[in-house]
Amino acid sequence: MDAKTCLQKLRYVGVLAFATVDEQGAPQIRNISAIHYEQSALYFFTARGKDFCSQLLADGRVQILGYTKYKEMIRLSARARPVREADREKWIDAIFEEQPYLSNVYPGDTRTLAGMVFEITDGEIEYFHLGVHPIFRERYPIGGGTVTEKGYRITDACIGCGACAAHCPQQCIEAGTPYQIQQEHCLHCGNCQAVCPVRAVERRG
Ligand code: SF4
Ligand code: SF4
Repeated sequence: MDAKTCLQKLRYVGVLAFATVDEQGAPQIRNISAIHYEQSALYFFTARGKDFCSQLLADGRVQILGYTKYKEMIRLSARARPVREADREKWIDAIFEEQPYLSNVYPGDTRTLAGMVFEITDGEIEYFHLGVHPIFRERYPIGGGTVTEKGYRITDACIGCGACAAHCPQQCIEAGTPYQIQQEHCLHCGNCQAVCPVRAVERRG
């Protein structure tokens, strides 16, 4: 798996959930399909008057979530920026060509007046596949984005008792000195931390 394949999968999903925060810090979420994909970037359309547009202009942070029929969760965390004014119509045309229903929503030149296009060229993708055993997860940067470490790690305080491995639902803890978590198969459930008698399990990130 890689970032490019994840973007292709999001494209196949089609309608994605876009989450932002409003001026009060409250979560706001909506579905968007007016999206154009490049190899390592995406462009999406909204209207200037919408709260979504105001939130993106004020803050820019956005999380985009898609879920495939194979139980793959793909989450893109990024900052969205308005495209250059000189390129705005070009991207509107590209999005409307790929999504013909939009011409019913914004007929004629109403799309140009109302339309804003935002781009995401840097960010982080999390891929989480619950349809395989053991489960599989990885994180990938796109553009100049960075990858955040999440989940748990076992420190040198480990005394090798084996309690964490016995309670791990994915059997993804290997014996050793110290014991080790196979991060790509970890659910982030926290059982290992809960049962460790010497507090050798720490949160990452
Ligand atoms: S967080 Fe859960 S899945 Fe991950 S290693 Fe610990 S017990 Fe296993
Ligand atoms: S429960 Fe704690 S001490 Fe025991 S093996 Fe796991 S990490 Fe090491």
